[in-house]
Amino acid sequence: MTQNNLISSIFRKEVLAMSAYKVADASGLIKLDAMENPYSWPEDIKSSWLEAIKDCPLNRYPDPEARQLTEKIRRLYAIPDQFQILLGNGSDEIIQLLLMALPADAGVLSPTPGFVMYKQLSDCLGLSYYGIPLLEGSFELDLPAMLAAIKQHQPSVIFIAYPNNPTGNLFSEAAIREIITSANGLVVIDEAYAPFADASFITALGEYENLLLMRTVSKLGLAGLRLGYLVGQPAIIEQLNKIRLPYNINSLTQISADFALANKQLFDIQTEKICSERTEVFNQLNQLDGITAYPSAANFILFRTPRNQASTIFASIKQQGVLIKNLDGQGGLLKDCLRVTIGKPEENAAFLQALKNSLVFCNP
Ligand code: PMP
Repeated sequence: MTQNNLISSIFRKEVLAMSAYKVADASGLIKLDAMENPYSWPEDIKSSWLEAIKDCPLNRYPDPEARQLTEKIRRLYAIPDQFQILLGNGSDEIIQLLLMALPADAGVLSPTPGFVMYKQLSDCLGLSYYGIPLLEGSFELDLPAMLAAIKQHQPSVIFIAYPNNPTGNLFSEAAIREIITSANGLVVIDEAYAPFADASFITALGEYENLLLMRTVSKLGLAGLRLGYLVGQPAIIEQLNKIRLPYNINSLTQISADFALANKQLFDIQTEKICSERTEVFNQLNQLDGITAYPSAANFILFRTPRNQASTIFASIKQQGVLIKNLDGQGGLLKDCLRVTIGKPEENAAFLQALKNSLVFCNP
Protein backbone atom coordinates (compact mmCIF):
# COMPACT_ATOMS: atom_id res chain seq x y z
CA MET A 1 0.00 0.00 0.00
CA THR A 2 1.43 3.42 -0.92
CA GLN A 3 1.58 6.16 1.67
CA ASN A 4 -1.19 8.07 -0.20
CA ASN A 5 -3.48 5.05 -0.20
CA LEU A 6 -2.81 4.48 3.45
CA ILE A 7 -3.72 8.09 4.31
CA SER A 8 -6.88 8.13 2.22
CA SER A 9 -8.05 4.79 3.57
CA ILE A 10 -7.65 5.88 7.17
CA PHE A 11 -8.85 9.45 7.47
CA ARG A 12 -12.38 10.80 6.96
CA LYS A 13 -12.97 12.49 3.62
CA GLU A 14 -13.80 15.76 5.41
CA VAL A 15 -10.39 15.76 7.07
CA LEU A 16 -8.60 14.93 3.82
CA ALA A 17 -10.36 17.84 2.10
CA MET A 18 -9.42 20.40 4.78
CA SER A 19 -6.39 22.58 5.08
CA ALA A 20 -4.84 23.30 8.47
CA TYR A 21 -5.59 26.68 10.09
CA LYS A 22 -2.48 28.71 9.31
CA VAL A 23 -1.07 31.22 11.74
CA ALA A 24 1.26 33.75 10.12
CA ASP A 25 4.83 34.01 11.43
CA ALA A 26 5.13 37.38 13.16
CA SER A 27 8.84 37.18 14.08
CA GLY A 28 10.39 40.62 13.97
CA LEU A 29 7.10 42.30 13.02
CA ILE A 30 4.71 44.60 14.87
CA LYS A 31 1.92 42.13 15.52
CA LEU A 32 -1.51 43.56 14.72
CA ASP A 33 -3.12 40.48 13.20
CA ALA A 34 -4.72 38.45 15.99
CA MET A 35 -6.76 40.74 18.25
CA GLU A 36 -4.35 40.41 21.14
CA ASN A 37 -4.02 43.00 23.89
CA PRO A 38 -0.67 44.75 23.19
CA TYR A 39 0.09 45.54 26.84
CA SER A 40 1.97 43.42 29.34
CA TRP A 41 1.90 43.71 33.14
CA PRO A 42 3.82 46.07 35.45
CA GLU A 43 6.79 44.46 37.20
CA ASP A 44 5.14 44.34 40.64
CA ILE A 45 2.14 42.44 39.24
CA LYS A 46 4.48 40.06 37.42
CA SER A 47 6.29 39.37 40.70
CA SER A 48 3.03 38.67 42.54
CA TRP A 49 1.97 36.35 39.71
CA LEU A 50 5.26 34.43 39.91
CA GLU A 51 4.67 34.15 43.65
CA ALA A 52 1.15 32.80 42.97
CA ILE A 53 2.33 30.06 40.59
CA LYS A 54 5.49 29.21 42.56
CA ASP A 55 3.93 26.41 44.55
CA CYS A 56 1.66 25.12 41.81
CA PRO A 57 1.76 21.32 42.21
CA LEU A 58 2.81 20.38 38.68
CA ASN A 59 3.17 16.74 39.70
CA ARG A 60 -0.59 16.56 40.27
CA TYR A 61 -3.43 16.70 37.79
CA PRO A 62 -5.37 19.95 37.83
CA ASP A 63 -8.75 20.33 39.51
CA PRO A 64 -10.97 18.75 36.81
CA GLU A 65 -13.78 21.17 37.61
CA ALA A 66 -11.52 24.23 38.04
CA ARG A 67 -13.81 25.17 40.93
CA GLN A 68 -11.95 28.19 42.27
CA LEU A 69 -11.57 29.77 38.83
CA THR A 70 -15.18 29.03 37.88
CA GLU A 71 -16.36 30.71 41.07
CA LYS A 72 -14.11 33.71 40.36
CA ILE A 73 -15.69 34.07 36.90
CA ARG A 74 -19.18 33.70 38.34
CA ARG A 75 -18.63 36.42 40.94
CA LEU A 76 -16.76 38.78 38.66
CA TYR A 77 -19.38 38.75 35.92
CA ALA A 78 -22.36 38.35 38.27
CA ILE A 79 -23.51 35.11 36.63
CA PRO A 80 -26.60 33.93 38.56
CA ASP A 81 -26.50 30.53 40.29
CA GLN A 82 -29.27 29.19 38.08
CA PHE A 83 -26.78 28.94 35.18
CA GLN A 84 -23.85 26.60 34.86
CA ILE A 85 -20.42 27.53 33.55
CA LEU A 86 -18.27 25.28 31.38
CA LEU A 87 -14.62 26.15 30.90
CA GLY A 88 -12.74 25.42 27.70
CA ASN A 89 -9.15 25.46 26.52
CA GLY A 90 -9.97 28.67 24.68
CA SER A 91 -13.46 29.25 23.35
CA ASP A 92 -12.26 27.38 20.26
CA GLU A 93 -12.44 24.21 22.34
CA ILE A 94 -15.96 25.04 23.47
CA ILE A 95 -17.12 25.37 19.85
CA GLN A 96 -15.50 22.01 19.12
CA LEU A 97 -17.08 20.38 22.19
CA LEU A 98 -20.52 21.62 21.30
CA LEU A 99 -20.25 20.43 17.71
CA MET A 100 -18.86 17.05 18.76
CA ALA A 101 -22.02 16.47 20.78
CA LEU A 102 -24.32 16.81 17.74
CA PRO A 103 -25.70 13.98 15.60
CA ALA A 104 -23.86 13.33 12.31
CA ASP A 105 -26.68 14.80 10.22
CA ALA A 106 -26.96 18.02 12.25
CA GLY A 107 -26.81 21.48 10.71
CA VAL A 108 -24.83 24.47 11.97
CA LEU A 109 -25.64 28.01 10.91
CA SER A 110 -23.99 31.39 11.28
CA PRO A 111 -23.92 34.72 9.49
CA THR A 112 -21.02 35.16 7.11
CA PRO A 113 -18.45 36.65 7.10
CA GLY A 114 -18.03 35.43 10.66
CA PHE A 115 -15.51 33.68 12.87
CA VAL A 116 -13.92 30.99 10.66
CA MET A 117 -13.84 28.27 13.34
CA TYR A 118 -17.63 27.76 13.22
CA LYS A 119 -17.30 26.48 9.65
CA GLN A 120 -13.85 24.90 10.01
CA LEU A 121 -14.92 22.73 12.95
CA SER A 122 -18.30 21.89 11.40
CA ASP A 123 -16.56 20.78 8.19
CA CYS A 124 -14.04 18.71 10.08
CA LEU A 125 -16.77 16.88 11.96
CA GLY A 126 -18.78 16.26 8.78
CA LEU A 127 -21.69 18.47 9.89
CA SER A 128 -23.67 20.58 7.41
CA TYR A 129 -22.65 24.22 7.72
CA TYR A 130 -24.82 27.05 6.40
CA GLY A 131 -23.30 30.53 6.12
CA ILE A 132 -25.91 33.24 5.62
CA PRO A 133 -24.44 36.42 4.05
CA LEU A 134 -24.65 39.67 5.98
CA LEU A 135 -26.05 42.74 4.26
CA GLU A 136 -23.59 44.49 1.99
CA GLY A 137 -22.46 47.89 3.24
CA SER A 138 -23.76 47.67 6.81
CA PHE A 139 -22.68 44.10 7.66
CA GLU A 140 -26.01 43.86 9.53
CA LEU A 141 -27.87 40.54 9.81
CA ASP A 142 -30.12 39.74 6.86
CA LEU A 143 -32.98 38.80 9.15
CA PRO A 144 -35.42 37.47 6.51
CA ALA A 145 -32.62 35.31 5.05
CA MET A 146 -31.62 34.08 8.51
CA LEU A 147 -35.22 33.18 9.41
CA ALA A 148 -35.77 31.43 6.06
CA ALA A 149 -32.57 29.42 6.50
CA ILE A 150 -33.57 28.45 10.04
CA LYS A 151 -36.91 27.21 8.76
CA GLN A 152 -35.36 25.33 5.87
CA HIS A 153 -32.35 23.75 7.58
CA GLN A 154 -33.48 23.52 11.23
CA PRO A 155 -29.90 23.95 12.48
CA SER A 156 -28.97 22.34 15.79
CA VAL A 157 -26.69 25.25 16.62
CA ILE A 158 -26.56 28.87 15.48
CA PHE A 159 -23.43 30.91 16.25
CA ILE A 160 -23.67 34.69 16.39
CA ALA A 161 -20.57 36.67 17.31
CA TYR A 162 -21.51 39.87 19.16
CA PRO A 163 -19.54 42.00 18.17
CA ASN A 164 -18.81 40.10 14.98
CA ASN A 165 -15.37 39.07 13.78
CA PRO A 166 -14.09 40.17 11.24
CA THR A 167 -16.56 43.02 10.65
CA GLY A 168 -16.39 44.44 14.21
CA ASN A 169 -20.03 45.55 14.41
CA LEU A 170 -22.76 44.67 16.89
CA PHE A 171 -25.80 43.20 15.12
CA SER A 172 -29.27 44.49 15.92
CA GLU A 173 -30.36 43.16 19.31
CA ALA A 174 -33.98 42.88 18.14
CA ALA A 175 -32.91 40.76 15.14
CA ILE A 176 -30.88 38.44 17.36
CA ARG A 177 -33.82 38.05 19.74
CA GLU A 178 -36.06 37.10 16.82
CA ILE A 179 -33.52 34.51 15.71
CA ILE A 180 -33.36 33.04 19.22
CA THR A 181 -37.15 32.69 19.40
CA SER A 182 -37.39 31.26 15.87
CA ALA A 183 -34.65 28.68 16.35
CA ASN A 184 -35.45 25.08 17.20
CA GLY A 185 -31.89 24.49 18.27
CA LEU A 186 -29.32 26.23 20.43
CA VAL A 187 -28.16 29.78 19.84
CA VAL A 188 -24.64 30.64 20.99
CA ILE A 189 -23.94 34.34 21.40
CA ASP A 190 -20.18 34.53 21.12
CA GLU A 191 -19.06 37.56 23.12
CA ALA A 192 -15.31 37.17 22.56
CA TYR A 193 -15.01 40.96 22.16
CA ALA A 194 -17.26 41.88 25.09
CA PRO A 195 -14.52 43.85 26.89
CA PHE A 196 -14.60 46.44 24.09
CA ALA A 197 -18.36 46.66 23.58
CA ASP A 198 -21.04 48.29 25.68
CA ALA A 199 -23.48 45.49 24.95
CA SER A 200 -24.09 41.92 26.08
CA PHE A 201 -26.77 39.25 26.12
CA ILE A 202 -25.83 38.20 29.64
CA THR A 203 -29.02 39.58 31.16
CA ALA A 204 -31.10 37.86 28.45
CA LEU A 205 -29.86 34.40 29.46
CA GLY A 206 -32.82 33.71 31.72
CA GLU A 207 -35.32 34.66 29.04
CA TYR A 208 -34.55 31.85 26.57
CA GLU A 209 -34.11 28.12 27.19
CA ASN A 210 -31.96 27.68 24.08
CA LEU A 211 -29.56 30.59 24.64
CA LEU A 212 -25.90 30.08 25.49
CA LEU A 213 -23.33 32.78 26.09
CA MET A 214 -19.69 32.20 25.21
CA ARG A 215 -16.75 34.35 26.25
CA THR A 216 -12.98 34.20 26.34
CA VAL A 217 -10.21 35.89 28.33
CA SER A 218 -8.04 35.98 25.19
CA LYS A 219 -8.94 39.45 23.96
CA LEU A 220 -8.92 40.89 27.45
CA GLY A 221 -5.19 40.24 27.60
CA LEU A 222 -4.73 36.56 28.44
CA ALA A 223 -4.59 34.89 25.02
CA GLY A 224 -1.63 32.77 26.06
CA LEU A 225 -3.55 31.08 28.87
CA ARG A 226 -6.19 29.57 26.55
CA LEU A 227 -9.36 29.99 28.56
CA GLY A 228 -12.91 30.41 27.37
CA TYR A 229 -16.23 29.81 29.08
CA LEU A 230 -19.77 28.97 28.18
CA VAL A 231 -22.76 29.93 30.32
CA GLY A 232 -26.21 28.40 30.04
CA GLN A 233 -28.93 26.15 31.39
CA PRO A 234 -27.53 23.32 33.56
CA ALA A 235 -29.32 20.69 31.44
CA ILE A 236 -27.35 21.78 28.36
CA ILE A 237 -23.99 22.27 30.09
CA GLU A 238 -24.36 18.83 31.71
CA GLN A 239 -24.40 17.14 28.31
CA LEU A 240 -21.31 19.02 27.18
CA ASN A 241 -19.47 18.14 30.37
CA LYS A 242 -19.78 14.47 29.39
CA ILE A 243 -17.50 14.94 26.39
CA ARG A 244 -15.18 17.54 27.89
CA LEU A 245 -11.78 16.03 28.61
CA PRO A 246 -11.41 15.85 32.40
CA TYR A 247 -8.32 18.07 32.73
CA ASN A 248 -8.87 20.50 29.88
CA ILE A 249 -7.85 23.54 31.93
CA ASN A 250 -4.26 23.05 33.07
CA SER A 251 -3.07 24.01 36.56
CA LEU A 252 -1.00 27.01 35.44
CA THR A 253 -3.95 28.43 33.54
CA GLN A 254 -6.26 27.91 36.51
CA ILE A 255 -3.94 29.69 38.94
CA SER A 256 -2.87 32.42 36.50
CA ALA A 257 -6.38 33.27 35.31
CA ASP A 258 -7.60 33.35 38.91
CA PHE A 259 -4.75 35.70 39.78
CA ALA A 260 -5.24 37.89 36.70
CA LEU A 261 -8.99 38.23 37.16
CA ALA A 262 -8.41 39.31 40.75
CA ASN A 263 -6.43 42.20 39.23
CA LYS A 264 -9.06 43.01 36.64
CA GLN A 265 -8.75 46.78 37.14
CA LEU A 266 -5.47 46.46 35.24
CA PHE A 267 -7.26 45.11 32.19
CA ASP A 268 -9.97 47.72 32.51
CA ILE A 269 -7.37 50.48 32.18
CA GLN A 270 -5.80 48.73 29.18
CA THR A 271 -9.21 48.17 27.57
CA GLU A 272 -10.02 51.85 27.94
CA LYS A 273 -6.75 52.79 26.24
CA ILE A 274 -7.46 50.35 23.40
CA CYS A 275 -10.97 51.79 22.91
CA SER A 276 -9.73 55.36 22.71
CA GLU A 277 -6.97 54.30 20.27
CA ARG A 278 -9.67 52.55 18.23
CA THR A 279 -11.43 55.89 17.71
CA GLU A 280 -8.13 57.50 16.72
CA VAL A 281 -7.21 54.78 14.19
CA PHE A 282 -10.75 54.74 12.79
CA ASN A 283 -10.72 58.49 12.16
CA GLN A 284 -7.26 58.42 10.63
CA LEU A 285 -8.15 55.52 8.34
CA ASN A 286 -11.22 57.29 7.06
CA GLN A 287 -9.18 60.37 6.24
CA LEU A 288 -7.11 58.37 3.76
CA ASP A 289 -8.07 58.55 0.12
CA GLY A 290 -9.41 55.22 -1.12
CA ILE A 291 -9.82 53.69 2.36
CA THR A 292 -13.16 52.99 4.04
CA ALA A 293 -12.99 51.89 7.67
CA TYR A 294 -16.04 50.22 9.23
CA PRO A 295 -17.20 51.18 12.74
CA SER A 296 -16.07 48.67 15.34
CA ALA A 297 -17.18 47.71 18.84
CA ALA A 298 -14.18 45.34 19.13
CA ASN A 299 -10.39 45.72 19.38
CA PHE A 300 -9.84 45.64 15.63
CA ILE A 301 -11.00 47.54 12.58
CA LEU A 302 -12.00 46.16 9.19
CA PHE A 303 -11.21 48.44 6.28
CA ARG A 304 -11.69 48.39 2.54
CA THR A 305 -8.85 49.22 0.18
CA PRO A 306 -8.98 50.38 -3.46
CA ARG A 307 -10.23 47.66 -5.82
CA ASN A 308 -7.89 44.70 -6.32
CA GLN A 309 -5.14 46.31 -4.23
CA ALA A 310 -5.66 44.58 -0.87
CA SER A 311 -2.98 41.90 -1.26
CA THR A 312 -0.40 44.36 -2.60
CA ILE A 313 -1.13 46.78 0.24
CA PHE A 314 -1.01 43.97 2.81
CA ALA A 315 2.36 42.79 1.48
CA SER A 316 3.73 46.32 1.43
CA ILE A 317 2.65 46.95 5.03
CA LYS A 318 4.31 43.69 6.04
CA GLN A 319 7.43 44.62 4.14
CA GLN A 320 7.51 47.77 6.30
CA GLY A 321 7.44 45.66 9.46
CA VAL A 322 3.74 45.50 10.41
CA LEU A 323 1.66 42.32 10.30
CA ILE A 324 -2.11 42.77 9.87
CA LYS A 325 -4.67 40.34 8.43
CA ASN A 326 -5.48 40.00 4.74
CA LEU A 327 -9.12 38.96 4.30
CA ASP A 328 -9.32 39.58 0.56
CA GLY A 329 -8.83 35.89 -0.21
CA GLN A 330 -12.04 34.99 1.63
CA GLY A 331 -13.95 36.78 -1.13
CA GLY A 332 -17.62 37.75 -0.94
CA LEU A 333 -18.17 40.80 1.26
CA LEU A 334 -14.52 40.67 2.34
CA LYS A 335 -13.07 41.22 -1.12
CA ASP A 336 -10.55 44.13 -0.94
CA CYS A 337 -10.70 44.08 2.88
CA LEU A 338 -7.92 44.09 5.48
CA ARG A 339 -8.22 43.94 9.27
CA VAL A 340 -5.99 45.64 11.80
CA THR A 341 -5.89 44.93 15.53
CA ILE A 342 -5.59 47.99 17.74
CA GLY A 343 -2.15 48.07 19.31
CA LYS A 344 -0.16 50.58 21.37
CA PRO A 345 -0.21 54.16 20.06
CA GLU A 346 3.26 53.84 18.52
CA GLU A 347 2.32 50.54 16.84
CA ASN A 348 -0.84 52.06 15.39
CA ALA A 349 1.16 55.03 14.15
CA ALA A 350 3.64 52.68 12.46
CA PHE A 351 0.75 50.83 10.83
CA LEU A 352 -0.92 54.04 9.59
CA GLN A 353 2.36 55.32 8.17
CA ALA A 354 3.02 51.99 6.43
CA LEU A 355 -0.48 52.05 4.96
CA LYS A 356 -0.03 55.63 3.74
CA ASN A 357 3.29 54.69 2.13
CA SER A 358 1.75 51.71 0.41
CA LEU A 359 -1.18 53.74 -0.95
CA VAL A 360 1.21 56.03 -2.78
CA PHE A 361 2.11 53.16 -5.08
CA CYS A 362 -1.49 52.10 -5.65
CA ASN A 363 -3.20 52.52 -8.99
CA PRO A 364 -6.12 54.93 -8.56
N1 PMP B 1 -14.89 33.76 18.94
C1 PMP B 1 -14.53 34.78 18.15
C2 PMP B 1 -15.59 35.64 17.56
C3 PMP B 1 -13.18 35.01 17.89
O1 PMP B 1 -12.83 36.02 17.07
C4 PMP B 1 -12.20 34.17 18.47
C5 PMP B 1 -10.71 34.34 18.26
N2 PMP B 1 -10.29 35.06 17.23
C6 PMP B 1 -12.63 33.13 19.29
C7 PMP B 1 -13.98 32.95 19.51
C8 PMP B 1 -11.68 32.15 19.89
O2 PMP B 1 -11.04 32.67 20.99
P1 PMP B 1 -10.18 31.79 21.99
O3 PMP B 1 -10.12 30.39 21.44
O4 PMP B 1 -8.85 32.45 22.03
O5 PMP B 1 -10.90 31.83 23.29
